[in-house]
Amino acid sequence: MPAPALDSHTHLDIAVGGEDRLPTDAEVDAEVAAAAAVGIPRLVQVGVDVASSRWSAALAARHPSVLAAVALHPNEAGAGAATPEALAEIDRLAAQPRVRAVGETGLDRFRTGSEGWAAQEESFRAHIGIAKRHGIALVIHDRDAHAEVLRVLDDEGLPEHTVFHCFSGDAAFARQCLDRGAVLSFAGTLTFGNAGYLREAAAIAPVDQLLVETDSPFLTPVPHRGRPNASRLVPHTVRALAEVTGTDLEQLCTTLTATAERVFGPWQY
Ligand SMILES: [Zn+2]
Ligand SMILES: [Zn+2]
Repeated sequence: MPAPALDSHTHLDIAVGGEDRLPTDAEVDAEVAAAAAVGIPRLVQVGVDVASSRWSAALAARHPSVLAAVALHPNEAGAGAATPEALAEIDRLAAQPRVRAVGETGLDRFRTGSEGWAAQEESFRAHIGIAKRHGIALVIHDRDAHAEVLRVLDDEGLPEHTVFHCFSGDAAFARQCLDRGAVLSFAGTLTFGNAGYLREAAAIAPVDQLLVETDSPFLTPVPHRGRPNASRLVPHTVRALAEVTGTDLEQLCTTLTATAERVFGPWQY
């Protein structure tokens, strides 16, 4: 990269350790160093349940390249995980100085059946409240629920900084999110051959309302599709975003970093 860029959404616990074990500190540090070596010195590590949110907060507390987001994922909430005790723990973690977002939260009507939608929405509303109370960003997971996510956001009122992680809508939906001041974070899906609608969405966004992410280990960008994703592969998505938006690559990297520090605050201080 001609200037430092970032990964606004990664799950290092899963990407490095796998589904069955947590990685060691040394393994995580090596992965973060590999990202820094290709021009990605800033990462946001995202929790999806109480355990991974605690892990994310602890990593951010000890590593200058990492900030944390904490939440109960909508699919966890849909399965009944958003108990008062669990939400209270997310609220406690959100007070830590290097926890800079509440997420990923939102609605997922792809993986969660209709029996879980009420619990999901209740949890989403609670997470919006936690983000506002702590004055930190909200990171939204929206899968097959665009209109419903906007309905809940409009009802609760958006926090000052709201990010649509792995933005998955078309240009018309992007317009609705941008008009509300939200930031759209694009994942490797932007590079997929069948994702013309995503490139159209990115193209209408002001450059300072854009972010990039891996969602690693998921959503690997072309040309590495089919292999596990990692923060060190986010440059593929940054280059695709520069092309789609007609922005000079160095200028885009600088703007992405500035946007990330506006939304999440500074990594080092
Ligand atoms: Zn997600
Ligand atoms: Zn994620």
